Amino acid sequence: MYIALDDTDSKDGMCTTYLVTELIKEFDEYQLLSYPRLVRLNPNIPWKTRGNGAVVLTIGKGKVRKEVIGKVDREIDIWTGDPCIEKNIMPRAKKVVDRWAESDKEGTDPGLVVGNGRPPGELYEKGVKEVLELDHVKEVLDSLDLDYWGGGSERGLIGAASALAWTPEDSTYELITYRRRDLWGEPRLIDHDDVKTLDMSLEHGFNNYDHVEHRQGVAPGTPCPVLYGVRGDEPNELKKALVTLKGERPERWLTFLTNQGTDDHIRVRDIRRLEPFMSARVTGTVCSPPRVIRGGHIFFEVSRGGATVTAAAFEPTKSFRDIINRLIVGDEIELWGGIKGEPLTLNIEKLKINRLAEKITKIGNPVCPYCGKSMGSMGTDSGYRCKKCRYRSGENTVHLEIIPRNLKEGWYEVPVIARRHLSKPLKRFNVEEGNF
Ligand SMILES: [Zn+2]
Repeated sequence: MYIALDDTDSKDGMCTTYLVTELIKEFDEYQLLSYPRLVRLNPNIPWKTRGNGAVVLTIGKGKVRKEVIGKVDREIDIWTGDPCIEKNIMPRAKKVVDRWAESDKEGTDPGLVVGNGRPPGELYEKGVKEVLELDHVKEVLDSLDLDYWGGGSERGLIGAASALAWTPEDSTYELITYRRRDLWGEPRLIDHDDVKTLDMSLEHGFNNYDHVEHRQGVAPGTPCPVLYGVRGDEPNELKKALVTLKGERPERWLTFLTNQGTDDHIRVRDIRRLEPFMSARVTGTVCSPPRVIRGGHIFFEVSRGGATVTAAAFEPTKSFRDIINRLIVGDEIELWGGIKGEPLTLNIEKLKINRLAEKITKIGNPVCPYCGKSMGSMGTDSGYRCKKCRYRSGENTVHLEIIPRNLKEGWYEVPVIARRHLSKPLKRFNVEEGNF
């Protein structure tokens, strides 16, 4: 039996994953038959909630206990077992949502999908890469005989159905801890150095500490019930956080299987075929020098086959902008990022420099081959002339020098603190960031 849920966040900081722990409490006569799933969807949709994440819970009658994946009011294990058809799941799940989701608040449009079937993978592909229409989603849910309920605009149904349709090709884990109720909204007591220590002890962790900006990446800045979330490829390794991170003790914790750090939102695209709200990987040549505007944002143009797109590295990408600033016209690059329009702008998440252009500068006028004097310029692109013997030479006789580039070919990514949940970190590609 699956329970999928989305869009329960509100400005006051409830988060959808907390509701998973509440659903586990509600359905305590069942066991979890797989990791709860945290599925991030298209990050470029303007009406998304914070993080745009939906969750899926698989419950049933367990046979054999497999491993501990959390602690809510008891130890939470996953089990082997059969999914079975259960009754009264929807009203009980809805009761939990009604209690916690603040459905009456504007901008909170929860969606719940309950049943034994799952929508086709195509629905996930669209939900993470494109824009889905609510009517289409409802048609799919109706055709599968899934039970669903949506509050407000019912938009949450889109996320819930898309998340339920996720069949992982690539996946990671996040261990999320939650705070005692009376501490919600209070400052979190998490030691910066503990996070750094933890990060260095996690062989398969990612996005937990920013070694460039020297900032922790595990605790949110919002007043939500989350104390911290630790990300990585090995779920058991993440449990180190419970020991290493001292300070505030979590009241409960749970490990999620997620599509974070997979680049599932990215589609390889031709620059001519970019559209707003999509995320793309494009190949092209830098065709304008990077320009910094007020606020520290940097823009430049990339072209291919006669089409051009503006690429952007905004101020929050911090030191990444130093890399972007060193690009010159002629550099051949690949960019990963989200598209905003109009005019179309690619918000860079990752960069690969395939070939650096030669940076050439004029260091002096040519010397006359007859008298040895320095020749004078006759104007832009008009060549040179010796004042004494009237000898003329072409523009290409100028003394040029190749300036070493303060940049290397290879991969670059925005720092941890500016990274999107879905962006695949270079650590997961097994490549090193270029040195500079
Ligand atoms: Zn001369």
